[in-house]
Amino acid sequence: MGRTFLLGLAGLVLALFPPSPPRGEGKGEKKPLTRFTFTEPHMGTRFKIIVYAPDEKTANAGAKAAFARVAQLDGIMSDYRPTSELMRLCRQAGGKPVKVSDELFFILEKSKELSEKSGGAFDITVGPVVRLWRRARKVGRLPDPQELKKALALVGHEAMVLDTKDRTVLLKKEGMLLDLGAIAKGWTGDEVIRVLKERRLSRALVAAGGDIVAGDAPPDARGWVVGIAPLTAPEAKPERYVLLENSAVSTAGDVEQFIEIAGKRYSHIVDPKTGVGILGRFSVTVTAPRGVTADGLDTTVAVLGPERGLRLVGEYEGAAVLFVRKTDKGVEVFKSKNFKEHSR
Ligand code: ADP
Ligand code: MG
Repeated sequence: MGRTFLLGLAGLVLALFPPSPPRGEGKGEKKPLTRFTFTEPHMGTRFKIIVYAPDEKTANAGAKAAFARVAQLDGIMSDYRPTSELMRLCRQAGGKPVKVSDELFFILEKSKELSEKSGGAFDITVGPVVRLWRRARKVGRLPDPQELKKALALVGHEAMVLDTKDRTVLLKKEGMLLDLGAIAKGWTGDEVIRVLKERRLSRALVAAGGDIVAGDAPPDARGWVVGIAPLTAPEAKPERYVLLENSAVSTAGDVEQFIEIAGKRYSHIVDPKTGVGILGRFSVTVTAPRGVTADGLDTTVAVLGPERGLRLVGEYEGAAVLFVRKTDKGVEVFKSKNFKEHSR
């Protein structure tokens, strides 16, 4: 096997092998295929697209269309841009039901479903609490308990009412703030692959931080090899790999984003019940047929912990999870039976 390209991502390491020599076999491909790579900053991270195309012009056009879709979805789902459709909706919290785009309705519906299935461990209404923790991280001080209490009073997916027939959303409490940070990138990855497939660029992969979605395998390969960064030495060579083909992988953990105060390490993932960042060292990797599922679930399992988390993932067709944590007892590994590691 040739040289390995390693690309460090949040918790995931993309290990790519140069095709030996590229041959556009099967699936009606006539011309030989070449690999092209594109990177653009979006959604507070770098989006990387790898695509096999017959020529540069086709690859460029595909990447342009894909990134345009990413930018469009960011304009809908961003919680940083005051002008996003999501933030415009939030400004009407406490008022009447609001008609929203199909895209926003879709992702809110997915989020609500996951909230219900997880007993509220996943909850996009955590916005007010997440904001406090973001500030805490900046100033290096834990959120004020009184402020946290006030923010928590606004959290709870029951106060987000979706009307499927009219495609409206009602946010019952003034001050409610939605945050799609735990699920938006995974779904955007699905959309990138869909846009590329529409252009017959099916052999592609998109990586957005710790969220990766793959289409068909590269020519001459059974799939895309993705390494999972070791918990305590994220820069070291991965010990575990997964193989993706028309599937997705997402990793959530405390490796990239956390706040350490008085010797305690709080994750940017919070328990919606307590408003407190998940403590300790852990990494959750979920594989699933779709990015929206993998991304939503990795965050949820981080909140639920290994036992309840594994059970929940088992309810999702084709999904599997690897949970690694470090406690006083050492490193513990929990794996669902169908978590398939790729041996190399
Ligand atoms: P990333 O890949 O950016 O690390 P994750 O998928 O791990 O993202 O999700 C973390 C983000 O999700 C947080 O930054 C926050 O915006 C949001 N979030 C935190 N806790 C929850 C929760 N319990 N339910 C839903 N969203 C959450
Ligand atoms: Mg997630």
